[in-house]
Amino acid sequence: MSADPPTGPSPVSPSTPSRTGLDPAWKPSTVAVAAGRPAHSPDQPLNEPIVMASTYVAGGDLEYGRYGNPTWAAFEEALGALEGGRALSFASGLAAVATVLDLVGTDAKVVVPRHAYNGTVMQLGDLEARGRLRTQLVDVTDTDEVVKACDGAALVWLESPTNPALEVADIETIRVAAHEAGAYVVVDNTFATPLLQKPLDLGVDLVVHSATKYLAGHSDVLMGAVVTRSEELYGVLKGRRDLLGAVPGTLEAWLALRGLRTLHLRVERAQANAQELVRRLSAHPAVGEVRYPGFGGIVSVVLAQGALAADLLTHKTRLWVHATSLGGVESTFERRRRWKSEPATIPEGLVRLSVGIEDVDDLWDDLVRALDGVV
Ligand SMILES: *Cc1c(COP(=O)(O)O)cnc(C)c1O
Repeated sequence: MSADPPTGPSPVSPSTPSRTGLDPAWKPSTVAVAAGRPAHSPDQPLNEPIVMASTYVAGGDLEYGRYGNPTWAAFEEALGALEGGRALSFASGLAAVATVLDLVGTDAKVVVPRHAYNGTVMQLGDLEARGRLRTQLVDVTDTDEVVKACDGAALVWLESPTNPALEVADIETIRVAAHEAGAYVVVDNTFATPLLQKPLDLGVDLVVHSATKYLAGHSDVLMGAVVTRSEELYGVLKGRRDLLGAVPGTLEAWLALRGLRTLHLRVERAQANAQELVRRLSAHPAVGEVRYPGFGGIVSVVLAQGALAADLLTHKTRLWVHATSLGGVESTFERRRRWKSEPATIPEGLVRLSVGIEDVDDLWDDLVRALDGVV
């Protein structure tokens, strides 16, 4: 089922002993602040420096800049501690996705939600078109359908909540069925973050992140990550990263770790704002439907008047920014079907809101002014 790890010169780097130890009793917000720091010893900086190095003096664990970097390692240590596994960082979320999809053999079957992130679905479509693997699209909210689809699968991809339909999967039930079928189970945890959902605790094999979103959190970095508890899978993925070279930039890793320090505060505030906006939006006559899984900072609204009204809305605000992507401190929104790659099962009038950490009344005033103009 899995490909052999490529044999390369790179060792699997051990966790760096020069860092501070973590107390297993610490809560996630403490871990977000304390993990991935240099040791508390005189004249050590509090933060891991940006280590710019393409090569290292021979004889150690790192050797070359494609195999490892202390700044990536600090980010990986912090994310690994939050997800409860061992993390590997990548150049982008989609680089992480590609590396995970490469785990399955030729002609393997991959099960994927039809409303998974469209870049993931497009990658799978591209691999399928080239005869590399087969995909089965499923409605991830229909657990029976997903469980049936596990039969004969090599990998079951889950995203929960999905982007932008905000559907939630029964991860545990599907995980059991997938493992019975001998498949790997992956959860794209970008929307929930490890603070709201820890898929490795539910027994899945791999967690994938677009660190571009909530983890880095400031709309200034592209980065991805994979986290696992399996030493074997870690070794295979590390080998692929060494070989294929989809490594993050050092500055990106540093910025992502800096962002991660406030993840708990940002997620808490974005979620509180989102919950309040959901309450207010549901009562507005321009809004036909509000989709919200009950947690997190992403809300999708379907405008009663369809695509034109949705486009109008995204051009009428002063505070909300019309932009793709999500998970930043700034509130952004967009009509998802403006992208040709978005499936036709996503309503034309669906606007995905990435609720930021601004004052909720300012967000509401700006939004309601624009909504009043499209009724
Ligand atoms: C953005 C996103 C990705 C892709 O990540 P990039 O960092 O843009 O490559 C993957 N999954 C989800 C759920 C996303 O929102």
